Amino acid sequence: MTAFASLRKLKANIRLAVMQVLATYAYLDYCRSAASVKPCECCSAIGFIATEVVTMKSMLSGVGRREVREQVRMRCKNCAGKGVVSSACRDCNGRGHAVMRKESERQGVPVMGDCKRCCGRGHERIPAVEAFRAISEITDSTSLATWDRSGKPFYGQLISKLEIEESWANLALNKVTA
Ligand SMILES: [Zn+2]
Ligand SMILES: [Zn+2]
Repeated sequence: MTAFASLRKLKANIRLAVMQVLATYAYLDYCRSAASVKPCECCSAIGFIATEVVTMKSMLSGVGRREVREQVRMRCKNCAGKGVVSSACRDCNGRGHAVMRKESERQGVPVMGDCKRCCGRGHERIPAVEAFRAISEITDSTSLATWDRSGKPFYGQLISKLEIEESWANLALNKVTA
């Protein structure tokens, strides 16, 4: 595995911090499953959304009415007030496979295949650009173009490395338990 070129140009301490961020994001992506949750974007993970409501209230004198503006906290509809939403893929509900519409029509029976949206993983990936944004907090020497060209593939390699290690571990485990 070769780290991307612009990473090598960084000062040692910054390079280390960037690597740490990449490794953390790769690990988070690797650990994510259909059962895990992510922060709700609609309410910034608070579970409530502040909105202003205008009501007409009678004046104390009993004559006339006045407008009263109030800040109210509404329960976030997106996450039902929980502040988190499921990472499960919306197309296949985390099952990883879905009915292939075209193929089903062709064969006249429901045909199941890997879900196109999540490529059969059953859950949404952490967008690679989030890792880029986290790196940008540390150093501004990596542009989005550089990231797309060499950073993103390297980040992808980190995730595959974790998946490969896991399958080796599974293989070893199967050997001893068989
Ligand atoms: Zn929410
Ligand atoms: Zn899916």
